[in-house]
Amino acid sequence: MKLKKLSRLDSTTLQLFWDDGHVGVTPLELLRDACPCAGCQGETVLLHHYAPAPDPDPHPGKYTLKGAETVGSYALKLVWEDGHEQGLYTWEHLRSLCCCEACVERREPAAGEGPQ
Ligand SMILES: [Zn+2]
Ligand SMILES: [Zn+2]
Repeated sequence: MKLKKLSRLDSTTLQLFWDDGHVGVTPLELLRDACPCAGCQGETVLLHHYAPAPDPDPHPGKYTLKGAETVGSYALKLVWEDGHEQGLYTWEHLRSLCCCEACVERREPAAGEGPQ
C-alpha cells in the first residue's frame, strides 16, 4: 500500500489516491491534529509522557495546508501555513485517518452482529 497522489477536494479536505485503487478523503483538521511529530503528540522520556497542552485558540493557518511532499517511499510530509512541517505521516498512519464512507463503516463496530 502506497500513496500515489493527493489533491485538494476543497479548502478543508484532502483527497488521497492509493495504489490499491482506494480513494480516500481526510479533513485537514484531522490531519493536523494527528500530526505525529514530538511537538504535537508529546514525547515519552524514561516512561514519563510529556504531552503538549491543548491549544485553546488555534493560530491562523494551523489547519491550512501549504504543501506536501513524499519522503522516501514510506511517508508524506505536510507543510502547514503556520510554518509547521515536522510531521511525517507514514502510509499506514495516513490510511488509518481516512474518512471515506467505506473506511468509516469498516471501523465502526457492526451493529446487530451474530447469527440471524
Ligand atoms: Zn477510505
Ligand atoms: Zn507536529
